[in-house]
Amino acid sequence: QKAERLDKLLSNLGYGARNDVRYWIKEGWITVDGKPATSPAQKVLADLVLLDGKPLDHPNGLTVIYHKPLGTVCSRKEAGRLIYADFPERWIDRKPPLSGVGRLDKETSGLLIVTDDGQLNHQLTSPKKHISKTYAVTLDRPLAGNEAEIFAEGKLLLEGDEKPCLPAELTVQGEKEAVLVLHEGRYHQVRRMFAAVGNHVSGLTRTHIGALSLDACSLAAGSYKVVTPEALLELI
Ligand code: URA
Repeated sequence: QKAERLDKLLSNLGYGARNDVRYWIKEGWITVDGKPATSPAQKVLADLVLLDGKPLDHPNGLTVIYHKPLGTVCSRKEAGRLIYADFPERWIDRKPPLSGVGRLDKETSGLLIVTDDGQLNHQLTSPKKHISKTYAVTLDRPLAGNEAEIFAEGKLLLEGDEKPCLPAELTVQGEKEAVLVLHEGRYHQVRRMFAAVGNHVSGLTRTHIGALSLDACSLAAGSYKVVTPEALLELI
């Protein structure tokens, strides 16, 4: 942990603007190591700061396992209710910013890791790490029966892509239900794979990231839990 300016620390954690911090100091609402803060420029260790008597909210990085509900969007550029609406309000103003590890479509629910740790994000998305993603898929039309073979071959070329998809494992669970395990993450990949074999995905949930299972997390849709990157990597 390194010492940083008190006003910068609090504004980067989304508590407020630097002017707010000046005011809070004047009001005596901030203590550093038990003593009232004296200046916005004071260099502090985050763990020693109390605001209104309370420790700061995850000042040394933040990673959550989130159960994304249907109908929310992962990116500020998309229209719709942002996933950040399910988190404490100040988190949207944190710097470095929180971002999803890979994206789920608006109409996809399930497991999503959200982190401000660029290195962790990279580790989890890097193709070299071979972290599989598992999806429960509901289809509009009955499965034809040859989809598992087609997906496993590794020759399926999606519209607009230059390279075929990597082999993926499909397990049929019902006439219109299947589980698909992917080893890469392309834009709308599951939907596009089924479109390529003449079907249409009507329901999609990401149930696993590597060995991390949505069920085992016991998270209701829209809820999350904070984890350390180390603990997360052990679960995945
Ligand atoms: N594949 C999709 O089509 N959508 C997702 O959200 C994830 C994988």
